[in-house]
Amino acid sequence: MTSALSVLDTVFGYDSFRGQQAEIVDHVISGGDALVLMPTGGGKSLCYQVPALVRPGTGVVVSPLIALMQDQVDALTAVGARAGFLNSTQSPDQRMAVERALLAGELDLLYLAPERLKVSSTLALLDRAELALFAIDEAHCVAQWGHDFRPDYLGLTVLHERWPSVPRIALTATATEATHREITERLQLQDARHFVASFDRPNIQYRIEGKNEPVKQLLSLIRTEHPGDAGIVYCLSRASVEKTAQALNDAGVPALPYHAGLDTATRAANQSRFLREDGIVMVATIAFGMGIDKPDVRFVAHLDLPKSVEGYYQETGRAGRDGLPSTAWLAYGLQDVVQQRQLIDKSEGDAAFKRRASQHLDAMLALCETIECRRVQLLAYFGQQSEPCGNCDTCLTPPESFDGTVPAQKLLSTVVRLWRERHQRFGAGHLIDILLGKQTPRMAQYGHDQLSTFGIGTELSEQEWRGVVRQLLAQQLLAVHGDGYGTIVLTEGSASVLNGSRQVRLRRDPVASRGGRKLRSA
Ligand code: ADP
Ligand code: ZN
Repeated sequence: MTSALSVLDTVFGYDSFRGQQAEIVDHVISGGDALVLMPTGGGKSLCYQVPALVRPGTGVVVSPLIALMQDQVDALTAVGARAGFLNSTQSPDQRMAVERALLAGELDLLYLAPERLKVSSTLALLDRAELALFAIDEAHCVAQWGHDFRPDYLGLTVLHERWPSVPRIALTATATEATHREITERLQLQDARHFVASFDRPNIQYRIEGKNEPVKQLLSLIRTEHPGDAGIVYCLSRASVEKTAQALNDAGVPALPYHAGLDTATRAANQSRFLREDGIVMVATIAFGMGIDKPDVRFVAHLDLPKSVEGYYQETGRAGRDGLPSTAWLAYGLQDVVQQRQLIDKSEGDAAFKRRASQHLDAMLALCETIECRRVQLLAYFGQQSEPCGNCDTCLTPPESFDGTVPAQKLLSTVVRLWRERHQRFGAGHLIDILLGKQTPRMAQYGHDQLSTFGIGTELSEQEWRGVVRQLLAQQLLAVHGDGYGTIVLTEGSASVLNGSRQVRLRRDPVASRGGRKLRSA
């Protein structure tokens, strides 16, 4: 049997394993099951590719990333490994050729989409082949509490039930403790060895700032820090992807759109240009990126709030796989909070789904509003302790916090008054107009210039008030009503602020107070 090190050297051209790779590879080669939690760029692929080449038979890799299978197979073929895939995009002829190669013992690696394993002919095919191992990539997809659940992954228990003696290695780059537990249970990996690497990505600088004019802010980031660099910009909707890509191109930044509304050929063409050319900015919905191996992505920007910390971590993790300094930048505003709450209310999921989605959102908001190190907070979310990093916005420019009890009381009592009058359909904008004493047409129409709180909030600017509303939403001292109008309502916690028994600590937004320039010189 050839040794792992010689395969690493002769096939992949590397002279040593990294981090826990050697241990993982040894463990799987000797027939053990493994669960590997390792950040993006950590080198997960070699953990199953090397054992697949060392052990006799074919390593079967289950992956949800059908669009990438061709690339993965090409990359392996280029280094002289024998690889193939089976998925729905192939013609019967292509499929048959792969099946023949598998049965003839001519494949080191076979990539399979999880839904293939529901087909009895696939199972019968694998029965007749010699199997080196099963690798379950993107294993967090089996977790319903995670952020990227795929029902087909639940069927993967068939692997060890049908082939108990074939070692399994499950891998993921995102797992909170809860997701970790769920993967273990659902894939029945209780007896597997668990390899948990640090999730820290020290070369990524995390920054979250207030959203005013997002495209302008993005252009400023690109021009001052990342001219000519490859980057990914995430937007929530297809429309904003198109608009943002256009705006970047108009400003001379080469940008391509990517979302599920584009036809397959355009998506594939844009993806391959992004991978092969230098300095392209991919503007995309979260449909883009899983499994994309481009080492020199220098920045990942979010123009809309991610739905969960796991999603944020995974998306930002696509920056700086090569270990060089990279930026994770997020612009976030009041509208994001309102919009995300509405999306959850309107979603078709059951009560448990909505509760879970709210918890995910709350954790994401807490990360946005923290006055402590972003990295400490982020790693704590994954159950890992760390020291302030010195390389995130809150470390570099510690945000000021202030006693926001009085502004919060003014805001909450305005909400109380509107509610009492049954004028319920007023969003944050109108509330702020009341506090600032603005004589808008709606003010006169509803007689809100007669409210006792009219004009009592001029000590803060409109921008600052938006920050107050946003943070009270994040702290669950206010909520967005599920009426679809973005109406702001009280929560159970509001009363304690109104009656003075609870203090409110607020973060002063650097953008509102200082124009957000300071960080760049840091
Ligand atoms: P992950 O799947 O964990 O995101 P990859 O398996 O794609 O990471 O590896 C990330 C990069 O690191 C790849 O370009 C890979 O070739 C490289 N790499 C992985 N292991 C080693 C190693 N032992 N020595 C040198 N480079 C490595
Ligand atoms: Zn920090």
